[in-house]
Amino acid sequence: MHLVYLDNNATTRIAPAVLEEMQSYLTDLFFNASSPCEAALPAARALALARQRVALLLGVTNPRQIIFTSGATESNNAALFGVTHANQMRRHIITSSVEHTSVLAYCQRLETEGYSITYLPVDPQGLIDPAILEQALRPDTALVSIMLANNETGVILPVEDYSRLVKRFDPAILLHTDATQAAGKIPIDLDRELSEVDLVSLSSHKMHGPKGVGALFLREGTPWLPFIIGGQQERGQRGGTYNVGGIVGFGKACELWLEGKVQQILMQRLRGSLETFIKNQIADVLINGAGAPRLPNTLNISFRNIAGESLIQALGQVGICASTGAACSSGGDEPSHVLRSMRVPHDFIHGSIRFSFSRDNTMAECEYVCRELPTAVKRLRQLNP
Ligand code: PMP
Repeated sequence: MHLVYLDNNATTRIAPAVLEEMQSYLTDLFFNASSPCEAALPAARALALARQRVALLLGVTNPRQIIFTSGATESNNAALFGVTHANQMRRHIITSSVEHTSVLAYCQRLETEGYSITYLPVDPQGLIDPAILEQALRPDTALVSIMLANNETGVILPVEDYSRLVKRFDPAILLHTDATQAAGKIPIDLDRELSEVDLVSLSSHKMHGPKGVGALFLREGTPWLPFIIGGQQERGQRGGTYNVGGIVGFGKACELWLEGKVQQILMQRLRGSLETFIKNQIADVLINGAGAPRLPNTLNISFRNIAGESLIQALGQVGICASTGAACSSGGDEPSHVLRSMRVPHDFIHGSIRFSFSRDNTMAECEYVCRELPTAVKRLRQLNP
């Protein structure tokens, strides 16, 4: 059975060109990029090229602001650790109630260390009211961390507006955004619209690169202390032998995105077709975040009086892979913290699932889902009227 993979916000298939470019750095050119030996020079050069490509993806001219990490979980932890340790006088952090667990769990730890954390609520569309952010700002606020796009709903938050507001209140407050889901799906320009943002987290495996590699953008001059210390890699900002193959793959994935602008339109067409079909053909559904700007690939739907897990299982049996939300928090019985924050009604929230497309998906796959989904929903509703 052909697998229709629609869980690309969890992870994506590595692009063939990415794998090809990585391969020699895992075999013949296996050298340590920090080694002074002549043979290691190509690895060091490949690393520099990857750094430039990531910088280009972010719209920044200075690649020295990119620190390679093991992924966005580390980047998010490092952003929070680094800012709080570099400025121990300020002990207030503002974040949102819909962040990824790698931000929320770190904030909870900071609370146990005496920090005061404000978790900003979102409206039913998944957006933060700027007035609420403004009211939360304090003279002892060290950092505001608000994601660029939500992994569960695809809602794009106006981080540009938030950053202007924060810096107007106090330019010393730092701004971090988790751009893990936005990267590779919408343009990001840190030298222009997002020029007030100081730290940005990225992950390679969400954009057809390899797993276990990501980056933290750290704007030059930002007060910050390294999270992982040891060797002098990354100019002392992140110890540990370079994951050369992974970094090369990540760089290539960034280049592929920059070369292929049509991908965004393709994903939007597929998502749009499925969304229109569901709205027209299936009763009692809510499209979460539909009133806000959204990533072109993400569709989060709540079906009334259905268990989301059962629907995922039923779709799995016919070769369709979707999810109930974030892979990192699946396994629990609790409904998603994101949808709860958006106040999705009780009889809908348990029946929430996410379809997330990639440029690898086709219209034929979308049509297959349109054929199978109504049958599955109908059967489950009959079982549990
Ligand atoms: N932030 C967001 C918004 C994510 O979706 C994810 C991945 N689920 C992460 C952070 C963590 O990324 P990684 O898997 O690279 O640690």
